[in-house]
Amino acid sequence: MFSQSELSEIKHILSTPKKITIVSHRNPDGDAMGSSLGLLNTLKQLNHEVFYVSPNEFPDFLAWLPNSKDVVVFERETEKAKAILSNSDLIFTLDFNALHRTGDFMGSYLETLSIPMVLIDHHELPDNYAKYLFSDTSYGSTCQMIYDFINALDFNPLINKDVATCIYTGILTDSGGFRFPKTTPATHHCVADLIEKGVNNSEVYNLLYDNSTYNRLQLLGKALQNLRILPDLHASYITLSQEELDMFHYQKGDTEGIVNYGLTIKDVFITAIFIENKEEGIIKISFRSQGNYDVNKFARMYFNGGGHINAAGGKSFSSLEETVNQFIANLANLNHQ
Ligand code: 5GP
Ligand code: MN
Repeated sequence: MFSQSELSEIKHILSTPKKITIVSHRNPDGDAMGSSLGLLNTLKQLNHEVFYVSPNEFPDFLAWLPNSKDVVVFERETEKAKAILSNSDLIFTLDFNALHRTGDFMGSYLETLSIPMVLIDHHELPDNYAKYLFSDTSYGSTCQMIYDFINALDFNPLINKDVATCIYTGILTDSGGFRFPKTTPATHHCVADLIEKGVNNSEVYNLLYDNSTYNRLQLLGKALQNLRILPDLHASYITLSQEELDMFHYQKGDTEGIVNYGLTIKDVFITAIFIENKEEGIIKISFRSQGNYDVNKFARMYFNGGGHINAAGGKSFSSLEETVNQFIANLANLNHQ
């Protein structure tokens, strides 16, 4: 948590109406959007003028989140977003640890601003850009950090059903449905409070996970056919080429969660999914692991990325095939570390 003096400074800033902008990482997920919209709704109740600027579009499966109509997309509404950001009194940066995580375009703009920033995040190794820093990798989600932050400011009564629903969403998605190791008693105490405040947990689950299109399931089928196992390395991986994505009319969010299938195989402790993106000229990679296999370090070292010890991401500018070959070659080093 922030120190007591930081908390009282933030509380002082928030004691009169301010222009506040919230920013999350590119390709926002449930935790990025949930924490941002939950905080936005909380701060609006205190009569601040609050905006949420997302670097790019959010996936359809999160479009039902309360206040999602308030999102300003930097890469689509650039002039509006720049005006909002440059007029802010305070900028919250949520669920990321380095300004470039908002993408090169928005990241380089954020670096030109001299507006105080607050960082709230649970990723490894935060950069040094924020005036107020709440970085703690023991949390399973930024949403749970937002919950503790709101409580530390004595604003718990502002957690209405909508705020609670946003926060619950990020806790649910980032914990893989309360199953990842950072799910603690504190997580469940928090969730109990959120449900008491009106979250319909069953409905949230349905909205997030029972909303697939037929094409998405066919794409999943293709991905599972493409799954390869490297038994000696205790690893597996999935590829999806642009052609395969096009075949199933890929939409943003369709590949969410597919990477996890690679870890469900006995004796596999490291997995990855490689997704070709011809428009951006990259292969987007997600890594997952169990136990001491540190995919954050691995993604940082070899694939221009980072994240958490057991869940990280990165990108490659080589072809799909070359990227997979690099992965396999580098895996041997990971295992020998
Ligand atoms: P996912 O694989 O679900 O996209 O991401 C897993 C975790 O790694 C998330 O916490 C995400 O924020 C982080 N992550 C994903 N891609 C990147 C990347 O390119 N760079 C860094 N530093 N982190 C990433
Ligand atoms: Mn997160």
